[in-house]
Order: sequence, then structure tokens, then C-alpha cells
Amino acid sequence: MSEAAIIDGKAFAEGLRGRVAEFASQFEARAGRKAGLAVVLVGEDPASQVYVRNKGKQTVACGMNSFEHKLAADTGEADLLALVEKLNADPAVDGILVQLPLPSHMNEQKVIATINPDKDVDGFHVVNVGRLATGLPGFVPCTPLGCVMLLKDRLGSLSGLDAVVIGRSNIVGKPMAQLLTAESCTVTVAHSRTKDLPEVVRRADIVVAAVGRPEMVKGDWIKPGATVIDVGINRVPAAEEGKTKLVGDVDFVSASQVAGAITPVPGGVGPMTIAVLLRNTLVAAHRNAGIVLDENAI
Ligand code: NAP
Repeated sequence: MSEAAIIDGKAFAEGLRGRVAEFASQFEARAGRKAGLAVVLVGEDPASQVYVRNKGKQTVACGMNSFEHKLAADTGEADLLALVEKLNADPAVDGILVQLPLPSHMNEQKVIATINPDKDVDGFHVVNVGRLATGLPGFVPCTPLGCVMLLKDRLGSLSGLDAVVIGRSNIVGKPMAQLLTAESCTVTVAHSRTKDLPEVVRRADIVVAAVGRPEMVKGDWIKPGATVIDVGINRVPAAEEGKTKLVGDVDFVSASQVAGAITPVPGGVGPMTIAVLLRNTLVAAHRNAGIVLDENAI
């Protein structure tokens, strides 16, 4: 059996950031200001600190303003909501991202609901969830939008293809299913109660795994030639004692013997998320400033 083509998300994300930078510079010339992304971090979770730092660096590298707001872990919810309201009203801020998870004394839904939907570049606000469901322009969560970009880059039209999405979370599985439906795929959403998951997956031309279980999807679940998108990021012990490594939700070694194309972990879906966040921020800037942008061109 021949080896699957590797879908290089790192390279695609680099290209996307390049297009964002180009359009960001045109935006600055036309609007007389830079596009801006505000990122709010509450507490000192090390993984969140790394994400926020990377988001800030990449935002600036693309020629946009990054506004970082770091709040202590014991900040009251009312103070966070007041900050979000301030950012909603700030014309220099086009996109607002509140890094999740929030400390347990805060209500995440309430915080997300306070973000102006037109600045909600993460696409988590119910207004944007509704817009996605009804086909209206809004903001789509970055990770699933990145997956669709990779799929279209690889396959062209997705129309008529059978897609199986494993996982039904609000941030990946559900929006992924909506996006694939909008691309005219026939979509099955599988989850922990799905009966005979391997058999369901075997029907798919496109498999999107967003489960959070290391290497769960095996090669003999995959239809020969299918395109496999592995969203999973799982840290597991490495062969070398005391070391760890990242693996996806798909058993890459066996699946790449059968699939037509597959995303690796790391280097597949992962790098797409921040690149799409920057793209969404630029789109928000154009919409907020009333400047027309061909959103399909980036
Ligand atoms: P989540 O909220 O925990 O959802 C996991 C989904 O998987 C649930 O719908 C669950 O079903 C389903 N599931 C669990 N065990 C299953 C099983 N044995 N068989 C079939 N389905 C099963 O996770 P998430 O936030 O969507 O994230 C999923 C993975 O993607 C994680 O590894 C995460 O780290 C990764 N991720 C990566 C990125 C990125 O690349 N930037 C972004 C987001 C997430 P039920 O609904 O029935 O419980």
C-alpha cells in the first residue's frame, strides 16, 4: 500500500499569515490605522501563557496591533466583564479573544456573551454560532475553519463527499459539521455513544478526528484513499524515559498506509488555529471599518 500524502499545515499556515500580512498593510493604508486584536488572559496557566504569547507575536509579525491584558487569577468576574465592555467600545480593537479556560469562579458563557459578536474572532458567541448554522456571515471557530481550508486546498470541491466528524464539542466537532454541510458534504457526527465507530468511519471520504484520545483511530478504520484530518493534541510518554511527545487522535503509522492524505501531529491542524485567528481579526477590521474585502482571497 502506498503512503498517504502529508498535508503540511505548517506550510499552509505560513502562506495564510503571508496573505494576512499583505492585506493588513493594505488595510492600514486605507483605514489610517492598524487592525487590532485584544487578548485577555486571566491567571497564570502555563499553557495559556504560551498560547497568548504566540498569538501576540504572530499578530505583530502580520502588521497588526496586539493588545494584551493580563489579569490576576483572583480577579472578580465583574472586573473582567468591565474590561470586555471597554474593549467592545474601543475603536482600535477589531477582535477580542478571552483565553479559555477561565478560573472556576467565572462563568465562561457569560463572559463570551458579553463580547460584541462583531469582535468575537473566536466565533464562540451564540450569535456567531447561529450565523454559522443559518449561513449568515459571522465568525467561525478558528480550528474547524482551518481544517476546511486544508481540505479544500487538498481536494478542491468537497461537494457530495461523505464526511465523518468524530467529536461534537462546541469549539471543534459541531462547527466542523456545519462547515462541511455548507460545503455540501454528507456529514455524520460521531461521539462517545456512537455504535460501531470503526464501521461508521470506514464509510468516510473525509475523516475529522477531534476526540482527545491518543491514536484511537486505527488504519483499518480508514477507507483506502480517504483524507484524514487529525485535530487531536495529546501529550503521551515518549520512548526515552522521562520525556513526552505529542500525538494525535489518529494512529498515524497505520492510517498513513491506507489514507490518500493525512495531517501529521504536530505540524498539521495545530499551526492553522492562530493563523485563522489572524485572518478572522483582519476580516473583523474590514467589516468594522466598512472597507470591502474579498474574504475568499485570504
Ligand atoms: P472535547 O470537548 O473533550 O470533545 C471530545 C469529543 O470526543 C466529545 O464529543 C466526545 O463525545 C468525543 N469522544 C470521546 N471519547 C470518544 C470515543 N471513545 N469515541 C468517540 N467519540 C469520543 O474535546 P475538543 O475540545 O473538541 O478537542 C478534541 C481534541 O482536539 C483534543 O485533543 C484537543 O486537544 C484538540 N484540539 C486541538 C486544537 C488545535 O489544533 N489547535 C484546537 C482545539 C482542540 P461525547 O460528546 O459523547 O462526550
